[in-house]
Amino acid sequence: MNPEQFTPQSVLVIMAHADDIEFGVSGSVCKWIAAGAEVSYCIITDGSSGSNDPETDIAQLVETRREEQLKAAQIVGVHDVRFLGYQDGSLQPTIELRRDLTRLIREVRPERVVTFDPTTIFTRDGSYINHPDHRAAGEAAVYATFPSAESRPIFAELLAEGLEPHKVCDLYLVLSNDANTWVDISDHIAQKQDALRCHASQLDEKVVQMVVGWNAELGKKHEVQYAEMFRVMNFRPNEDDGDKSE
Ligand SMILES: [Zn+2]
Repeated sequence: MNPEQFTPQSVLVIMAHADDIEFGVSGSVCKWIAAGAEVSYCIITDGSSGSNDPETDIAQLVETRREEQLKAAQIVGVHDVRFLGYQDGSLQPTIELRRDLTRLIREVRPERVVTFDPTTIFTRDGSYINHPDHRAAGEAAVYATFPSAESRPIFAELLAEGLEPHKVCDLYLVLSNDANTWVDISDHIAQKQDALRCHASQLDEKVVQMVVGWNAELGKKHEVQYAEMFRVMNFRPNEDDGDKSE
């Protein structure tokens, strides 16, 4: 696994649920923002499956999760948060979702897209069956990134909305069994914990410390305090042409 090679100027993070970003990438988001990047968030589902309590007021839950996500974004310095409102728990990688994400990529025009690795069904350590919404979000976002966002004939109706094709420079995938890149988040672990704590309807301090433990374990392997890891696909024509500020 290699340390991160390129510092992005702009990033779009596309995840299924409110709180997915805080688990997987919020430390790196802090780092990219500190280096001058503009970061946007997109949460695909409405969060309506975030409770098993039969007494839950679903409309209230959706509102709460939206507020929690906005607070978590604010803590790390993200001011652009989009909610697509798809139903939580039964997300499919439909052509409609791919079109919605293509529209967003062409509008935000990020250098980097971050999403889930859609190939992960099980984690390799055997501890987790990946949520199907994560895989659906990842598949739609990966194919929106390539080929849809950069190909003029695909979703030609978006041209009428003034959305010209856009080529993304690299793709960062979370929750991957094939991670190839790590990011040192040691300076941002406190912010990451605070962002996680915003999701009080979904997790408690035990979960926050479990995530910190994962980041510490990974950091130890690379002789830093805390790290996050990604499977990175780099689409730059030649590595030497890019911004090698890290
Ligand atoms: Zn999730």
